[in-house]
Amino acid sequence: MPAPQCASCHTARAALRRPRSGQALCGACFCAAFEAEVLHTVVAGRLLPPGAVVAVGASGGKDSTVLAHVLRELAPRLGISLHLVAVDEGIGGYRDAALAAVRRQAARWDLPLTVVAYADLFGGWTMDAVARSTAGSGRSRACCTFCGVLRRRALEEGARLVGATHVVTGHNADDMAETVLMNFLRGDAGRLARGGGLGSPGEGGALPRCRPLQLASQKEVVLYAHFRRLDYFSEECVYAPEAFRGHARDLLKMLEAARPSAVLDLVHSAERLALAPAARPPPPGACSRCGALASRALCQACALLDGLNRGRPRLAIGKGRRGLDEEGPPREPQPSRLTTSEPVPDF
Ligand code: SF4
Repeated sequence: MPAPQCASCHTARAALRRPRSGQALCGACFCAAFEAEVLHTVVAGRLLPPGAVVAVGASGGKDSTVLAHVLRELAPRLGISLHLVAVDEGIGGYRDAALAAVRRQAARWDLPLTVVAYADLFGGWTMDAVARSTAGSGRSRACCTFCGVLRRRALEEGARLVGATHVVTGHNADDMAETVLMNFLRGDAGRLARGGGLGSPGEGGALPRCRPLQLASQKEVVLYAHFRRLDYFSEECVYAPEAFRGHARDLLKMLEAARPSAVLDLVHSAERLALAPAARPPPPGACSRCGALASRALCQACALLDGLNRGRPRLAIGKGRRGLDEEGPPREPQPSRLTTSEPVPDF
């Protein structure tokens, strides 16, 4: 049976059915609709004002590749300028190839690119070194906890370095729904309360941060990359199989099979969530070490680095965090250029 006509232009043959609406569109009309929806998200949410210098968190993966491409298409209408900022976490056998994809994108799209490395920012710590430190006798399951916090901080540092006024990341609706599920499963009321909305306005001196693809499904991000023939890196990080996020992803797939709207329903649930007064975290203060926003004596990044420098990395995770704040200075202090607000792990 021949493909139906595109429901938008009524001339070309449809190349896909939109996963959510079922609308049959040709590739060109789908890409135009996708870009229009991202534009609407940015304009309606007042995420990026005219004149903004936008640091795009670029990992070489599909989400940040699509985000950079769409924002480059929209930049003249929005009146913004873009700067790619990539983070080198120091993950052997993975990050070098991903960074090569980012460099190709920057060259092809004629966008400036800055790479910041964990090793330079965090006193020599790379993710491979963190993994060895946290593994004990087996494989480390804590890598993504450390990496999520440090990556957020590194991206902020990189954005400041290039004079950005705003930070954008490529998280899509599926990523956000997984995060909501993870926070529920962990009973983490503080992150649930902070996780709604399309971004953060930049509390405590941090740069405003937003996620223009937050309402776009992962399937449509992949379809957009396909029809625009985007070159991206698709291998999984070597530490990803150990991450708790994988369980949330599996659970989300089951939920979506039973209820196709489950992903967006979860995203919108987080936006509307209101915590009872007794469950609300105390208002944040300033990290005693770097001055960033912190709900304890040390912000998350300083606490994690402190635990690593003491040779007791798990102190900074979960309940052990309390002990870390109460202990003295680390045995081997290492230089750190941390200056920004307390991060919330994205991974
Ligand atoms: Fe970092 Fe985990 Fe992502 Fe790997 S999978 S880059 S360790 S957050």
